[in-house]
Amino acid sequence: MSNFNPTFWDVIIAGGGPAGFFAAIRCAELNPKLKILIIEKASQTLGKVIISGGGRCNVTHACFEPAKLISFYPRGGNELRGAFSRFQPQDTLQWFESRGVKLKVESDGRIFPVTDDSNTIANCLRESTKNAGVQVKTGINLLNVEKNNNGFNLEVRGEGKVHYLQAKKLLLATGSDSKTREIVKALGHSIEEPVPSLFTFNVKDKRIDGLAGVSVENVTLKMDTVKTQGALLITHWGLSGPAVLRCSAWGARILFDKKYHAPLIINWLGDYRFDSALEILQKNKDWKENTKKKVSTQPAFSQIPLRLWKQLTEFVGDKNWGDLSKAELQKLAQELTAGEFMIQGKGIFKEEFVTCGGVNLKEVDFKTMQSRIVENLFFAGEVLDIDGITGGFNFQSSWTTGWLAGSAIG
Ligand SMILES: Cc1cc2nc3c(=O)[nH]c(=O)nc-3n(C[C@H](O)[C@H](O)[C@H](O)COP(=O)(O)OP(=O)(O)OC[C@H]3O[C@@H](n4cnc5c(N)ncnc54)[C@H](O)[C@@H]3O)c2cc1C
Repeated sequence: MSNFNPTFWDVIIAGGGPAGFFAAIRCAELNPKLKILIIEKASQTLGKVIISGGGRCNVTHACFEPAKLISFYPRGGNELRGAFSRFQPQDTLQWFESRGVKLKVESDGRIFPVTDDSNTIANCLRESTKNAGVQVKTGINLLNVEKNNNGFNLEVRGEGKVHYLQAKKLLLATGSDSKTREIVKALGHSIEEPVPSLFTFNVKDKRIDGLAGVSVENVTLKMDTVKTQGALLITHWGLSGPAVLRCSAWGARILFDKKYHAPLIINWLGDYRFDSALEILQKNKDWKENTKKKVSTQPAFSQIPLRLWKQLTEFVGDKNWGDLSKAELQKLAQELTAGEFMIQGKGIFKEEFVTCGGVNLKEVDFKTMQSRIVENLFFAGEVLDIDGITGGFNFQSSWTTGWLAGSAIG
């Protein structure tokens, strides 16, 4: 790319990610006369799509009720409610399948291409853009935007040169890019400061030492005001699994403020309360056959794997069930239903990673994704203060907001 010809466009979309592509395709298919340009600063488009879902791309989630769907978004759920009534996972499925991409639903609700290859999704988006006549230019970095009477003047850099472009309408779909946040601020918008969401917890504690790979199907976690439930996986560095990732998403800002050091209360028994756990422990002690059996080798709860049980109960030593004192039973019930651990840092969840924060949602009309502050300026995707938990929800909000923006512009 050395020259732009023309320099004047009906629509410029900054950001060649899923939100930008979806918007461009929708817009071009609705209104083929429009001259639409996508500018992408990287050397290739759809970079995150390609690495997503461990290379398989978890496109969306089999949750087809907008009211339920929004519960998977720590930020943006309320605003997305109406948006999902216009474009939701069912529409995403149809969109891809109508373009020859077969998708499959896995047992946990996550949806992937049957090829298990994210290139299938990226290629479909690239092909659809081409067929719709959208121009895509890579290696072009948006540097600055100024509003004028007819639209926008854009300053961009590509191949070491600065170029000037004009657009009647501008869509910002630049993901979590920090430079764009400055541009958005200069245009009069406010930004919720970005912090990471969806990460694992670094926890060093002898109760989980050496247990990497052990998982518990249903635990409840409490961190500050955040409470989450689900499966938990012990890793070499600490804790992961759906319950932890949810806790990191809902607690993203709290953990950021606490510099990723905070107490974490684990109920290894999921829904059990202290009293009911104590009752079962007492029955185990009273059960004649157990009297002479070691606590460490005779778990009272089948949901806790033996290796973990041994380490959680280490404080009773070699004792038999029959020898446990009331205080020891109570301590055991406490350990199982409210064990206190310390989060000592943030790990990486390799399959998915998002940033919470972005353009303040109050300043955007979610029917059109148009700015309430600057006419003809639109937003879609992660540039907004929206993020979902893992499972395909992040792409879904990009498809939905991209589709809405494309519809309004087109
Ligand atoms: C490793 C990983 C795996 C993931 N897996 C999944 C998954 O399986 N399912 C799921 O739902 N979500 C997943 N996500 C999250 C998902 O990728 C994002 O939510 C989604 O890509 C956001 O789409 P977007 O178009 O808003 O932004 P992006 O995908 O970030 O695209 C924005 C684009 O804009 C470009 N850009 C930025 N600034 C400029 C500029 N100034 N000028 C020009 N171009 C610019 C960027 O280079 C980028 O290509 C994953 C994320 C990661 C990091």
